[in-house]
Order: sequence, then C-alpha cells, then structure tokens
Amino acid sequence: MSINIKLEKPSLYALSLNELRDYLSSQGLAKFAADQVYQWMYKIQERDLSKWSNISKKIREDFENNFDLSLPTVIWNGLSKDGTRKFLVKMRDGQTVETVAIPAKDRLTLCISSQVGCAIGCTFCHTGTMGLKRNLLADEIVGQFMAVSHWLKDNTEDGTRLSNIVFMGQGEPLHNYDNVRSATIIFMEDKGLGLSQRKITLSTSGLVPQIEKMWDFPPVNIAISLHAAHNDIRTELMPINKAYDLERLFNAIKKVPLKAYRRITYEYILIADLNDRQEDIDGLTDLLEKSKSKINIIPYNDFPDSKFKRPSNSKIIWFQEELLKRGFVCTTRTTKGQDILAACGQLKSEYDKLNLWDQSKSKAFEMQFPQ
Ligand code: SF4
Repeated sequence: MSINIKLEKPSLYALSLNELRDYLSSQGLAKFAADQVYQWMYKIQERDLSKWSNISKKIREDFENNFDLSLPTVIWNGLSKDGTRKFLVKMRDGQTVETVAIPAKDRLTLCISSQVGCAIGCTFCHTGTMGLKRNLLADEIVGQFMAVSHWLKDNTEDGTRLSNIVFMGQGEPLHNYDNVRSATIIFMEDKGLGLSQRKITLSTSGLVPQIEKMWDFPPVNIAISLHAAHNDIRTELMPINKAYDLERLFNAIKKVPLKAYRRITYEYILIADLNDRQEDIDGLTDLLEKSKSKINIIPYNDFPDSKFKRPSNSKIIWFQEELLKRGFVCTTRTTKGQDILAACGQLKSEYDKLNLWDQSKSKAFEMQFPQ
C-alpha cells in the first residue's frame, strides 16, 4: 500500500523559492520574478493571479497551465470557549485532517497535521486509533497553514495572522520526513512567510533513525514525546518504545544539533496513577540533562472511551513543583480546546460526524519500525 498520493499537476505550494527560481529559468522565464511570486502567495496572500500586477502575463499563464494552484478547503470549523479554533481541512483526494489555531497573549499558533491518521498508535491518543491513511505532501502541509490564513483573512476584522507553528497535529512528522522538511523550508523563507526558527516546533514520538539524520533538517525547536521515564510504562503508552527504547532514544537525541534551540522540550502527558509518582520524578531526574532540557507537563485529556484518567489538580501541581525543586525548567500546559476535542491527543478526523468516510473501504497502514 502506498502512503503517498500522485498528482496530475504539481502544486505551486510545493516549491521552495530556489525551486521556483530554477523552474522559471528552465522555462526561459524571468528567474527574479520568483521573489515577487512568493510575496503574492505568502506575504500579501492574494490567490487571484490576475491581481499579481508585477508578474508578467506569460508567467501567470504558465502557472495556470502547469501547476495546481488550489489550496486545501476548510470544510468545518469549531470555536472553543477559550478561543481555540479547530478546522477540518479537505485535501484534493477528499482526505481530511484537523488543524488547530491556538491563541495566546502575543501569538496565534497553528497546530499542524503531517499525516492523515498516524501509524505510531500511542495508547493515550485519539488519532492513534485511526491508523495511518497516508502521508501529507509538502504542499498539503503548507496548504493547511495557507487555508487557515485565508480563512482568518476572510472571517476576522482585525487581520489576525498566524505567527507560530507546532507539528503536533495528526501524524508523526518524522515518519513523513521529506515532506515535512520541504514544508518547513517554505515556512521559513524570508521572502514568503518568514517564520523564524524559534517560531516552529517539531514534535516527535522518538523515531530514532530519523532523529539521527536531523542534521539536514532546518534548525527548529524540537520536542520529544517522552511521557515516561521507565521503559515498561513508556512501552505501555507508546508501542514505538519496543523498537526504540529510552537508551536508544537518548543516544540519538545526543546527536541532534542544538542550534537555535538550546533546550529540547520533553512532553510528558501526566496520567493518574501511572506516571505521576515519586519514582517517575526520580526517573526523569536520572534521565534528563537539566541544562539542555525543558519538561512540559500535559495533564491527560480524556476522550470518549479513553482508558486513562487525568490526575487531580493538586497532584499536577505537586509533580511540577517537585521537578522545579530539582532545578528543571518545567511548565504545565494549559489545556485548550477541550470542549471541541481539539486538545493534545484528541484530534481525530470527523469523518463519521460528517458522513464523508466509509471506514469499510479503508485499511490502516501498519508501521514497520526499521532497526
Ligand atoms: S500521540 Fe502523536 S505519534 Fe502518538 S499516535 Fe498520536 S499522533 Fe501519532
């Protein structure tokens, strides 16, 4: 089974600035126009090519003939009481993913999906119950950002713009390494969206072979879904730990070039009576290097039929304070969007609700972990 789709025409949103320059040059068209095209697409965000006033008619016609200029479509959105807005975004083959805009005081972060579903199968995660349908292409990853940007432009009065990206939606981004890497290069292009390395965070469940090759990934913030300091508990939560246990994971992490990000963030879903004990604090203290780590506690979010429970508020506070006392940088993530199932680990495509998906015709991709 293929986990990639084939397109009749390539998408213009799949091209980095250099690739666009090369394309124009190969067609005998003005190479320098690539910078202006990027401005129209990403800075001005104008989709109507007839308004690209400083771009020659020849180039616009070439794009219309040779590229798919469409973006994914927002087919549903839901607003949480806390301002978090979840979008259901449809790709050209009808597959949908969820993407979530999370407001904070000084930023608006888009939590982006990298795959339709996910093969990793973490037992606490709603997305993990879907299995993997397919990888998203680079233009579909960029397209989520652009589709939501256009939605905001059309539906908000103050010209609200997205400022940050976290790869924490559906999917394991490093399982779709090449497309996520290409999309990240496009996100960071100064002539376009110009998101700086500190404004993009990639979160991984711990795919060791891909972590080991991250030397060629643009320098963004890295978050590791750790969730346990002991192998038996981590394996219970994340089957990937059977293939890449904590020892292998931390050997790989040591090789990650810490450029922009001086610290790696360790995500830790706190679950009642499972990983919220004194011995878990001791385990984290042994495992993590304080000067290079930040622990982000995520109190578990229940979803329908979930088998785990959220700890009490006093337990959450105790856990964080114990880590702070030991000298760790440690935060507890405020739960956002819980009332619309947009919180971490709760994303699952709403096909059933919208009656768009015939489950009997789909077969989830089962992941084989290379050693
Ligand atoms: S937590 Fe992330 S890696 Fe694990 S199943 Fe869910 S989407 Fe996949």
